[in-house]
Amino acid sequence: MATITKPQGALVDLTKCIGCRGCQVTCKSWNQRSTKKTQMTGNFTSPGDMNSETYTLVKFIENDKDADVTWDFIKVQCMHCKNPACASACPVGAFTKTPAGPVTYEPEKCIGCRYCMMACPFQIPKYEWDKKYPVVQKCTFCAERIADGMEPACVKTCPPNAIIFGDHDKILAEAERRIKEHPEKYVNHIYGKEEAGGTAWMYLSSVPFDKMGFKAGIPKGPLPDLTWASLSKIPYAVGGLAVILSAIAFIRNRGNSDSAVPPDEKGKEG
Ligand code: SF4
Ligand code: SF4
Ligand code: SF4
Repeated sequence: MATITKPQGALVDLTKCIGCRGCQVTCKSWNQRSTKKTQMTGNFTSPGDMNSETYTLVKFIENDKDADVTWDFIKVQCMHCKNPACASACPVGAFTKTPAGPVTYEPEKCIGCRYCMMACPFQIPKYEWDKKYPVVQKCTFCAERIADGMEPACVKTCPPNAIIFGDHDKILAEAERRIKEHPEKYVNHIYGKEEAGGTAWMYLSSVPFDKMGFKAGIPKGPLPDLTWASLSKIPYAVGGLAVILSAIAFIRNRGNSDSAVPPDEKGKEG
């Protein structure tokens, strides 16, 4: 199988999403994430927000249309930015932007500083607050599936084909074609085309994105420069902290591996 080096992209056409949560369930299954009983919070989104065990979440959005209440759905996950602020902010290089598109993460390098969580403009990385040796978790863009020539698990499972996947250039061109051919159906905005300098995941919608719960006002340029502009004001603090936290992480990871769950036990809970 040829190695995929061309940047890949995904487009979620929210006008096609039926809110079935198939993507959410498949993601849990493929990534061996645990489940917990959730509670009704006045909205059908379940769980109420993404967490370290939930890499992708289908949010139920209540909107008004022609004096009626309508339900819209959005699938959220890591956007796999072209210039990821998480990677730029991480002092130990735990995140890598790969040529094929996924922003991958190496938990064994993580020192738990959580700069990535502060830097991400989409509030994606989640911390394992309830674990003894916590690390950060987020959607992987199914990097290992892409490397094997497969599409991400959530894309493959989507019943109405609301998500398409392929070369980023072609996916972007398809999004532009849909807007051009059906201006009555879509708002004239591809979310992710320019936000944060462009992202691998993009969205089309018939409802303005701010009414769908998307974060508005994300700068169009890459964010890492902005991140380093603030972090570089405290270079000695960052460098010193990285050394101290690396030592802590080394000790922690050694302890973690001593009590590690065997690989074949991974993901059995829930
Ligand atoms: S969405 Fe956040 S976590 Fe994902 S690549 Fe971009 S900055 Fe990193
Ligand atoms: S790309 Fe993979 S890890 Fe990301 S949401 Fe889809 S199934 Fe989950
Ligand atoms: S599987 Fe497809 S249709 Fe179902 S919730 Fe996910 S994106 Fe929407």
